[in-house]
Parts: sequence; C-alpha cells; structure tokens
Amino acid sequence: MKGNLFVVSGPSGVGKGTVCKAYVEKHPEVYLSISATTRNPRAGDADGVTYYFINEEQFRSGIAKDAFLEHAVYCGNYYGTPKEPVMKHLEAGGDVILEIESDGAMHIRSHFPEAVFIFVCPPSLEELKRRLEGRDTETPEEIQARLEKAKSEFPRAKKYNYMLMNDDVAAAVRRLEAIIDAEKCYMPRNIEFINKEFLK
Ligand code: ADP
Ligand code: 5GP
Repeated sequence: MKGNLFVVSGPSGVGKGTVCKAYVEKHPEVYLSISATTRNPRAGDADGVTYYFINEEQFRSGIAKDAFLEHAVYCGNYYGTPKEPVMKHLEAGGDVILEIESDGAMHIRSHFPEAVFIFVCPPSLEELKRRLEGRDTETPEEIQARLEKAKSEFPRAKKYNYMLMNDDVAAAVRRLEAIIDAEKCYMPRNIEFINKEFLK
C-alpha cells in the first residue's frame, strides 16, 4: 500500500460528513470513499455521491463476492466500504479517507495497522442531540436510537490515534489538515523515499 489510509469515526450527528466533505473540497486529490448502504436516502443524499443505495439482497451478494473491505450493521442497516476503488487509490500512492462507524474501523485496524484512526468528538452530549435534531433527517425514535448508539461508541474512542474536536467546522477542518499533514511527515512513512532518493 503506497498511499495513506485515514479512518474517521464518531457519533451520528457529530459532523463527520460535514468536516470530511469540507476537507476533500479543499484537497480534491484525497479520495473520500463512497460507501454502500441499505438505509433509505435522506434529504441531501445523492446515489453514487454520498452513498451507493442498494437493497439487502445486493448487499449480501457484495459480501459473498468479497467486494467490501469491511462492513457493519448500524441501527438496523448495512453499511460497507467498496474494496476496489479504495485499493486502487492506495496502490496508486493516493491518500484515502474512510468515514465509517467503530466496528468497521476496528476491522480495518486489524488489516491495516499502519492506517490512522481519528475520532470526531462533539463539545457535549447536549450539543450532539441539538445537531441530530437540527439536521431533521430522522424520526424522534431514530434520533433516540442514534444517541444510544453514540453512548456505546465513546468507550471505543480510546482505541483511536487522534481526537478531533468539532466545536466549529472551520477549526475542525484545520485540525484534520494538521493531523493528515503531520502523519504524512512521520519518518516511518518516508523511509522508502529516503532510501530510493538518497541512499542508493
Ligand atoms: P455526521 O456525518 O457525523 O452524522 P453531519 O455532518 O450530518 O454529521 O452533521 C450533523 C448536523 O450538525 C448537520 O446539520 C451539520 O450541519 C451540523 N454541524 C456539523 N458540524 C457542526 C459544528 N461544528 N457546529 C454546529 N453544527 C454542526
Ligand atoms: P448515516 O446513516 O448517518 O449516513 O451513517 C451511520 C453510520 O454508519 C455513521 O457512523 C457512518 O460513519 C457509518 N458508515 C457509513 N459508511 C460506512 C461503511 O462503509 N462502513 C461502516 N462500517 N460504517 C459506515
């Protein structure tokens, strides 16, 4: 794997989508993986842009064909990372961001120990609830289920390499830039370049 893999997780409504989208708008050379899901599209979703919206049968067939790098069930729906585009970008030396929940992230960690794991945090649980309600894309029952799920994700935060506070979108994007830039400068990721260029 020649490029770098960044995995972004965090509770629903924290602003992962908002921050990752703003980041790749500024850095279009970085590939933000488009997941497949069986959940229904919501306002703002576009098939093939935010997700590939497929049914359960199609999802199971994808699993059987080993088409996903990882997959998980989240609040009753399947979500999975299509393997081919991610591996293609990494092999070509490109950087890739996966915005996925923590079961999938832990699976990625066992297969790609060199990947970088970033947990997006809200300033408080009250603010998280305000954002989920303010987004107005789920029923009150679905929002409650996502808040319960969020509480079960926080203990996993400690397994990530970085906490990305999303108190303000512009500040969070700056922090993500700082993390990605620093990780790309990390010496173990650059040994091959030094060997090839200067130690022939
Ligand atoms: P996620 O992808 O983590 O589920 P979204 O990106 O959909 O979350 O964001 C949830 C809601 O919170 C959206 O309405 C978004 O505009 C809003 N939001 C995101 N980041 C912030 C922030 N820093 N401050 C206030 N609102 C935010
Ligand atoms: P949402 O329904 O809000 O778009 O996403 C719900 C959760 O699924 C979020 O935590 C999101 O990060 C996660 N998710 C999105 N795509 C994938 C994926 O391909 N794999 C996994 N494991 N989780 C995903």
